[in-house]
Amino acid sequence: MNNYIIAVDGPSAAGKSFLSEEIANRLGIIYIDTGAMYRAVALYFIENNVDMNNDNDVQKALDEITIKFKRINNKIHTFLNGEDISLKIRTEQIGMMASKVSAIKRVREEMIERQRNLAKDDSVILDGRDIGSVVFPNANLKVFLTADVEERAKRRLQDLKIKNPRITYDEVLNDIKKRDNKDINKPISPLIETEDSIRIDTTSLAKEEVVNEVIRLLKERDVL
Ligand code: C5P
Repeated sequence: MNNYIIAVDGPSAAGKSFLSEEIANRLGIIYIDTGAMYRAVALYFIENNVDMNNDNDVQKALDEITIKFKRINNKIHTFLNGEDISLKIRTEQIGMMASKVSAIKRVREEMIERQRNLAKDDSVILDGRDIGSVVFPNANLKVFLTADVEERAKRRLQDLKIKNPRITYDEVLNDIKKRDNKDINKPISPLIETEDSIRIDTTSLAKEEVVNEVIRLLKERDVL
C-alpha cells in the first residue's frame, strides 16, 4: 500500500487526540494535531499582543511562527519556535483564543498549507474540524468522532482538573457548548460531517473499542 491519509474530525473533547495518537503509535505513522497548531498560533498572538484585526500584523506573526511536532516517549509534543508548549496550550483560555484565530482566513490558509506539506511524503493521521471536508477531501478514511456534550464535558473536566483543581463541571460544560457553537457557525471551514465520513459516537464506548473500530475500518478498506 502507498502512503495513506486518515482524517479524524469532530467537536471538542470527543476523544480525537487520544484516538489519533494511539493509531499513529500502533501503525508507526505521523500524527498531526491540527488543533494544537491553532492553539500554538493563539499562544503566539497572546504572548506577542498581535492585533487579530490588522492583516499586516497577522501576516508578520505567521512569518515568525514555526510549529513542529516531536514524539517523546510515545507522546506527541508541540513546539512553537523551539519551545515545548504542549502543556501551556491545554487551557480553556487558549482553546477559546484558538477558536478565534482559526476563524481568520489568512491563518487558515497558512495552516492548511502547512498541514498538506507535513503529509506530503508520509502516511499520516490528522485530527481537527475540517480535515475530511477541506484539508484532505480524498483521505483514505474519514472518521467523524462525536459524543454527547455532557460526556465530553466530564472527560474534559478530568484533564483540566490536573492543572486547575477548582474548575467546575458547569464551567467546562459552558465552554464546550460555546466552542461547539463557534466551530459549527464559523463562516469558513465550519465543523461539518461529510457524507463519506464514518460517524463513531464514543459516548458509551471505551477508548480501546474506538481504536479497534478504526483499525477494523482500515482493514475493511484495504488500507492496511
Ligand atoms: O481540537 P482543539 O480543541 O485543540 O482545537 C482548538 C480550536 O481550534 C477549536 O476550537 C477549533 O475552533 C479550532 N480548529 C479548527 N480547525 C482545525 C482544528 C482546530 O478550526 N482543523
